[in-house]
Amino acid sequence: MEVKTIGVVGSGQMGNGIAHVAAINGFSVIMSDIKDEFLKKGLDTISKNLDRAVSKGKMTAQEKTDTLSRISTTLSITDLAKADFVVEAAVEREDLKFNIFRELDQACPKDVILSTNTSSIPIGRIAAQTSRPEKVIGMHFMNPVPVMELVEVIRGLATSDDTFLTTIDLCGKLKKTPAVSNDYPGFIANRILMPMINEAITCVFEHVGTPEDIDTVMKLGMNHPMGPLALADLIGLDTCLAIMETLYDGFKDSKYRPCPLLRQYVEAGWYGRKSGRGFYAY
Ligand code: NAD
Repeated sequence: MEVKTIGVVGSGQMGNGIAHVAAINGFSVIMSDIKDEFLKKGLDTISKNLDRAVSKGKMTAQEKTDTLSRISTTLSITDLAKADFVVEAAVEREDLKFNIFRELDQACPKDVILSTNTSSIPIGRIAAQTSRPEKVIGMHFMNPVPVMELVEVIRGLATSDDTFLTTIDLCGKLKKTPAVSNDYPGFIANRILMPMINEAITCVFEHVGTPEDIDTVMKLGMNHPMGPLALADLIGLDTCLAIMETLYDGFKDSKYRPCPLLRQYVEAGWYGRKSGRGFYAY
């Protein structure tokens, strides 16, 4: 089936980024969330990011208007029945994603691929909630989506070749480069990245250094474009904790134990940039 309309579940930082990239590449988009204010915030973010592209001369004001006109929003996930391909980008909670996939499975035609942008939850567990595990796949975009080139594509045990090839093809149409991972907790990206971030947080916890010094060491010493603590604030500390929990539960290996300071921050509502406070103030 030719993909013309992409359904996106969630209009947070990843969902609105995926909607942006899909619309800019000519796809119609239906973006869902649970509150009007979240949808409005998602659309505002897309509009501001497009404004930046217009002011840099990368697109015309008319192209911006056309791009926005391709995005519709809904509070009802059943409206995604009109999509030919779905990308789920709701919060990183297994129970919530399980419910969403059961709802999508009920609502969407049987030939529609249901992909998830999960950072760490095994695809097979999500696929098992549906009656079409061969049509479930991981499509892990990077943050910020309009800027980052990579999509990690994760095949579940049951994912069919057809689903895999359609997803790889879609990455190309979204002007992204896919890298393929098999289905283990955290896949490739977060299996490597998140323990590094967790270790940086442990360095704060144990007073090895200040957040500024830790980030400076990694930026100037290792040539990372961003320090691990600034990156954790960008990703969202709630998401970082959820990923560490998935690694810890999935491998039952103490090397993935989330740092207690990360848990404390999340319990205090310090989620990083999106809440205005994390390792830095915003
Ligand atoms: P976010 O908190 O910015 O946005 C999540 C959105 O999902 C919110 O707007 C929330 O209201 C919405 N939502 C919750 N329940 C919903 C439902 N039932 N239906 C529709 N929408 C619902 O989170 P995010 O950073 O955009 O992360 C989303 C997903 O992307 C997570 O699985 C995360 O692990 C993954 N991810 C995040 C990053 C990152 O850097 N933040 C990178 C790659 C992947």
